[in-house]
Amino acid sequence: MRFPLHITTDMIVYQLRQALRGNRRYPFVLMLEPLYTCNLACIGCATERHTGKLQDRLPVEVCLQAADDSGAPVVSICGGEPTIYPELPELIEGIIERQRHIYLCTNALLLDEKVFGLVAPHRRLTINVHLDGMRKTHDYVCAREGVFDKAIAMITEAKQRGYHVITNTTIFKETEIEEIEQLCKELFALGIDGMLICPGYQYQSVDRDIFLTRDDMHEKFKRVIEISQRYRLTSTPMFLEFAAGLREYDCSPWSTVTFTPNGWKGPCYLIGKTATWSWDEFWNETDWDYWESRQDTLCQNCAMHSGFEASVVRGARKNPRDLLRLAAWNFLG
Ligand code: SF4
Repeated sequence: MRFPLHITTDMIVYQLRQALRGNRRYPFVLMLEPLYTCNLACIGCATERHTGKLQDRLPVEVCLQAADDSGAPVVSICGGEPTIYPELPELIEGIIERQRHIYLCTNALLLDEKVFGLVAPHRRLTINVHLDGMRKTHDYVCAREGVFDKAIAMITEAKQRGYHVITNTTIFKETEIEEIEQLCKELFALGIDGMLICPGYQYQSVDRDIFLTRDDMHEKFKRVIEISQRYRLTSTPMFLEFAAGLREYDCSPWSTVTFTPNGWKGPCYLIGKTATWSWDEFWNETDWDYWESRQDTLCQNCAMHSGFEASVVRGARKNPRDLLRLAAWNFLG
């Protein structure tokens, strides 16, 4: 099975409940960014996501209130680098108490000091390690030597300790797809439980020419589709087809809501047009029709899974063939 049974059933029950309430839009994932402090300054990262001060981090109770307000069944703890967050064990415990599933998105550099031995493996906890290529590429993207080797050592140890581990790879303009296939080979040999591959998004605060044009993206993701026949990728086949230009979707920015040291970020994980501490204001006053339509110039080259994986699910509900394909991908994959 692609996703563990308890995650799949929780997601199905959650969607059924939302449908019974007549809700068309609802969050699937809370991107919780408790701090904007990082121990790296990766070249493709939004500047604001790694230059914040530790003392400006969110208190645990504020993070848990955000989890309650959003109601999302999945909480992705990111940032910044969440292993730097001093109250991480308490935060994870509070989210698990709320019966949510956690993806801990990390560069893995501090897993041995801040997670192993302090946060026990749990069926609701998945460690999600950022890896953008093999050693040379990943260390270049992270602007520091040794990051790849440490991440591989931490993935190996995490699997030995019994954690559920996936990885997350962003494809940039210079990324060679052969290298991504090599990365898949090495990571799956270590026993990882899944791998997410997505195109990079050009943040306004990043001025380097490393991001994919639409044509580049289509070409590279056609190759990623071939890789997905051989390795257990976590991105759905329809999302990969969308990234390869083989199908179209509206965006579902409301499916992945983002809470940051500045409050709720709107309209989406990528674009910060608005910030408010009020969930009701964020949810009720964001113009979802406009952002779903992708007509904004900032949406032109975007194919982020945070915006479009929920669109795949929405689309499959209306198309029995896609629904069967999605079920087979998850249950038989
Ligand atoms: S298309 Fe991308 S940038 Fe635009 S709202 Fe959706 S996720 Fe955000």
